[in-house]
Amino acid sequence: MKKSFSAILILLAVINIFAICATTISFAGDIEDVIPSAPENFVAVNSATGVNISWSPVENTAGYKLYRSEIDGEYEEIADIRGFAENSFTDITAQSGAEYKYQIKAYNAFNEGELSAESSIIYLKQPTLTKAGSVYGGIELIWDKSEGADGYTIYRKNDNEDIAIAEIQGDETTLFLDEDVKNNKKYQYTVIAYKGIYRSSFAYKTSKIYITAPTLKKAKNYNGYVKVYWEKTKTADKYRVYRKTADTDWKYLDTVSKKYSTFKDETVKNGGKYIYMVRAIDGKYNSGYDRAGVKANYVSAPKGVELKNYYSNSIKVQWDKVSGAEKYVVYRKDTKNDSFEKVEETKKNQFKDTDIVNGRKYTYSVKAKGENGGTSGYSKNVKLTALKRPTEIKLNCTSAGVNISWTKMSSATGYRIYRKTGSSSDWSLVKKINSGSTTSYTDEGVKDGKTYSYRVMQVKGSEKGSYLKDGVTIKFVKAPKVSAKHSPEGIVLNWNKAKIGTGYEVQRKAQGEKKWKTLATLSSLNTLTYRDSKPVYGKKNYYRVVVRDANLISDSCLLYGINPNKKMVALTYDDGPYTPVTNQILDVLEEYNGRATFFVVGSRVPTYKDCIKREASLGCEIGNHTYNHTILTSVNASTIKSEIADTNAAVKNITGQAPKIVRTPGGAVNSTVKANVKYPMFNWSVDTLDWKYRNSSSVVSSIKNNVRDGSIVLMHDLYGSTGTATEQIVPWLVKNGYQLVTVSELMAVKGIDVQKGQLYTRAY
Ligand code: ZN
Repeated sequence: MKKSFSAILILLAVINIFAICATTISFAGDIEDVIPSAPENFVAVNSATGVNISWSPVENTAGYKLYRSEIDGEYEEIADIRGFAENSFTDITAQSGAEYKYQIKAYNAFNEGELSAESSIIYLKQPTLTKAGSVYGGIELIWDKSEGADGYTIYRKNDNEDIAIAEIQGDETTLFLDEDVKNNKKYQYTVIAYKGIYRSSFAYKTSKIYITAPTLKKAKNYNGYVKVYWEKTKTADKYRVYRKTADTDWKYLDTVSKKYSTFKDETVKNGGKYIYMVRAIDGKYNSGYDRAGVKANYVSAPKGVELKNYYSNSIKVQWDKVSGAEKYVVYRKDTKNDSFEKVEETKKNQFKDTDIVNGRKYTYSVKAKGENGGTSGYSKNVKLTALKRPTEIKLNCTSAGVNISWTKMSSATGYRIYRKTGSSSDWSLVKKINSGSTTSYTDEGVKDGKTYSYRVMQVKGSEKGSYLKDGVTIKFVKAPKVSAKHSPEGIVLNWNKAKIGTGYEVQRKAQGEKKWKTLATLSSLNTLTYRDSKPVYGKKNYYRVVVRDANLISDSCLLYGINPNKKMVALTYDDGPYTPVTNQILDVLEEYNGRATFFVVGSRVPTYKDCIKREASLGCEIGNHTYNHTILTSVNASTIKSEIADTNAAVKNITGQAPKIVRTPGGAVNSTVKANVKYPMFNWSVDTLDWKYRNSSSVVSSIKNNVRDGSIVLMHDLYGSTGTATEQIVPWLVKNGYQLVTVSELMAVKGIDVQKGQLYTRAY
């Protein structure tokens, strides 16, 4: 290093001495004899346009001849530069990366001068910065290639000092990203090409103001749009959103205010692959953008999602197919888990959820997954209460039809019964039951010998439950019909013979009991009667007959249990109904679990039908007291008949049951009456004369003084005093061991076989 430094100094000294000599010589002789001296200070340097050659002008010169040689080549004249004062020339034909040697000589009209010293150089084209601007992550510099360079050095000006910020090997890379930049600032850059010790010329260029590009977070699919999310750039006053697809270049979509850092692209199409980028705009300056962008493979959320409680206790979730979707993801939440959880991923457009709890409300949503990997947003939420099918569905043939029974569903507000006949596949609704606690129904619309299938579905409000696909099937065979009557030895049941089966079970269910109790098992189909010698006294006793090995069950019939060995009395009330008094009497009978007989006047029945209904529902007997309270002994046969028939029709119209006993007004009976009244007639053994005295205590004492086991007591439910008397006498009778029975019960239990057209007054 030190050696070469000294060599250059010696060389410079020699050149100086020659220069002084030449100047001295040129002024010495004639012009013809003057030979121009060799130009001194001959130097070749790289410039923006080529190799710049310069020298010191020579006296008495007309021009200069410039020679160039490539390494190992021969010198060739490349320029004739006229004018003695010329002192520079730019060789624009130099090839970047090539090494050249130059020499020059001066000439005049007569002589050419000596050649100058050689100057060697490797020409390097000056890299021109074509870009110094914001991109994602910094300022990007792009320059023209300098062929043949070993590399490039990049300078940035910091406080008027040139700082080399990067060196790039090779001439091919003509791009550099300066990441060490700050938002809202500009910088000066230059790039110099080099080869060995040679360097290109350079020129600084000032970058545009650097704006930090927004950091893109994601692009997410929603129902009908893609939403792009980014992080805000501090100084930005708006953002521009761009989109591209595989087939198109970046396309400007919209400008978003600085308040927002999201954008909804509603112009997306199903199956589209989109890439988004966002630029921050600060005044007139743009930020760069993330070339990678954020991707969204758009697929729309499924539409038409529907839920249904389905066969075999599942919820069926169904939706419309989405074009371009490869799979679907089903999400669920319920009253216990309030956030969506994935429950299924499927290629089908339906899913059966069997993991459900009866009565629990579930919400479903479905997402589509595109063939190109995108996932849609959630579909609309749909809700359904899981309503499983009632279990233990049992079918029985009764005397009326097919009886369907099932387990009670805690969630039900009602049930629907569907039926199909034989091998048909047409299910039809046969009954809507609007109570969740009803658990049986008898379908009377069936025909003997035909086969029927039934489905039972629970409903909750308007929501429908699931059911067995094939239902439960039975061949209907009419069950025996059972009748029951009181006798002194107990309740006697009779029924008609069953067509199939191996015998009978006689069953009873008393008021308040939940299960049927088998009283007797009869092994012959020909046994058609049974006597219950000990019914549950004082309560309702229901009876039915089950045909063994045949699924046939008779309808049940009801009788009140009456103890034949205990006293009993039949209270009777004529001339009603009359709401205030009739209800007063019914209230006390209901309280003491007793019954009475009401001989009603037919013309009053339509007016007081609620009273009639209540009498029937409490087990009281409704008797016939003529239609117009006509004294039958003073009218003809046809009037007698119509007076009785009209009242029977009026009562049947309300209760469905016509009266079976008659009390004639005034108790008036003669042979004509007996011949034309086709029912047993009843007068009384205790006359309270309540109509006459209208005094409750006289009624009470009349009964207390005259009543005995088997009495029939006459009163009228028209007078408040009679109502009050009833309130007093009923507790007294019960306390004194009397059972309060109807007239028909009294006669049957006492073993009196009443006949039509006959008059009775008591049962002793
Ligand atoms: Zn009367």
